[in-house]
Amino acid sequence: WIPINDYNLAVIGAGSGGYVAAIKAAQLGLRVAVIENREVGGTCLNRGCIPTKTLLHAAQLFAEAQAFDAIGLHVDGISYDISAMHRRKDEVIEKLRAGIENLLKANKIELINGTATIIAPHNISVKTADGAKELTADHILIATGSKPARPPIEGLDLPNVVTSDELLSLSNQVYQRLVIIGGGVIGVEFASVFNALGCTVTVVEAMERVLPAMDREISQNLAMILKKRGVVIHTGAQVQQIVQADGELQCKFTDKNGEQTVAADGVLIAIGRKPNTDELFSNGFTVKMNRGSIVVDDRFCTDVEGVYAIGDVTSGIQLAHVASAQGICVAEQISGCQPTIRLDVVPSCIYTNPEIAVVGISADDAKAQGRAIKTGKFILSANGKSLIENQDRGFVKLVFDAETDVILGAQLMCARATDLVSELSTAIVNKLTATQLAAVIRPHPTFTEAVTEAVEDTGDGSIHSM
Ligand code: FAD
Repeated sequence: WIPINDYNLAVIGAGSGGYVAAIKAAQLGLRVAVIENREVGGTCLNRGCIPTKTLLHAAQLFAEAQAFDAIGLHVDGISYDISAMHRRKDEVIEKLRAGIENLLKANKIELINGTATIIAPHNISVKTADGAKELTADHILIATGSKPARPPIEGLDLPNVVTSDELLSLSNQVYQRLVIIGGGVIGVEFASVFNALGCTVTVVEAMERVLPAMDREISQNLAMILKKRGVVIHTGAQVQQIVQADGELQCKFTDKNGEQTVAADGVLIAIGRKPNTDELFSNGFTVKMNRGSIVVDDRFCTDVEGVYAIGDVTSGIQLAHVASAQGICVAEQISGCQPTIRLDVVPSCIYTNPEIAVVGISADDAKAQGRAIKTGKFILSANGKSLIENQDRGFVKLVFDAETDVILGAQLMCARATDLVSELSTAIVNKLTATQLAAVIRPHPTFTEAVTEAVEDTGDGSIHSM
């Protein structure tokens, strides 16, 4: 007698990883349940990618509108309404959330609202508003994501010392003086929003540069652009404490100039994220973990057969499209299909102005690996579309293997970089050579012409650069 479980797959967490895995598994014929203790869509939809980019879009339009005179437009008395900006952000979120809920229904996936605890390899207990219930599944996928990390800094519990979660829900207030602790992706995107809205923004970063994990030229250029727009950046800075004095917050840190104090109305803590594993295991059951993250192999299997983990709760790259791709991979494996997505080529995007996008390896990475490479670069100031749109800053850099001519990586800092990068991801996945990339006619006038020019720069030289 073989016991029949309630589901073929139970997914814990309906974020970018979980809901996509559930839909894929259902499309492949599995009986699927998803357990979610907050809103479907997870961090990305409710507290991450979508709300930040909706606010960023409005803030950037506001900043651009102030330079309208330069393109012959006159708009008098332009101002913004932060509550209306948040209302629109919430409308975007609600529309997308309703879409996911409909997709789950259409694919006959049972959505259970509650907090899941795994009590045995195939058994889950769920705390719901109507009490606890238990379910069984052939396979369990942990996709519980992450939450903002809170470093042990004195003063973190003061009012107006917030994480990205709280800042995104402050719908009727803008901090006129904002200190951002952490100059990583989340920190610089929020710096861009508040700077564009005319606030005084100070970024305090512990490493020697903002975006420390990014290509050096990109990180230095971004720092220069932000500084030119009035953002104050302190690098190599260690925050000591935050205090409330004289009706304001004071962020105290040390850097190469000694002890510093910056006054603020709000402080954003943006120093990283912590995997969500609280309440996830009980009854003596657990899986292998490392510093709070769930340990998985290259097929997302934990050390317990039938239990998988994907997305931010593992120690991999914390990006929504990575969690979704991993979810599809697990659903395909469980259904007995060959994985269809190349998980080793991951584009990373930053939605500053200009946008930043990278994929594959940089010239510095290649040199560190001792690889012989050739590079091509094009500066956007000679690109027609960039001039038309008054977006003529930035560059496209491409890295090729010196012997085979195959593309290895791309670093872009320009308008539409986050869209352009997909062409280069496709090229890397398919091992295209510079000759193959140069053979493609790209339409004029477009930003994509910068790719043609950067490729040509590796050979006889590009047409539009000196
Ligand atoms: P999540 O999306 O966090 O989903 C996990 C879900 O599981 C949550 O809804 C949680 O409530 C639920 N859950 C947790 N524990 C339990 C439990 N025990 N029982 C039931 N449910 C549970 N990534 C990008 O690619 N592009 C961006 O532009 C981008 N911008 C970002 C901006 C910000 C401010 C932040 C914070 C993140 C951003 N990210 C971005 C990262 C992206 O949001 C995450 O990488 C992505 O959401 C991870 O997906 P996930 O499925 O692993 O987890």
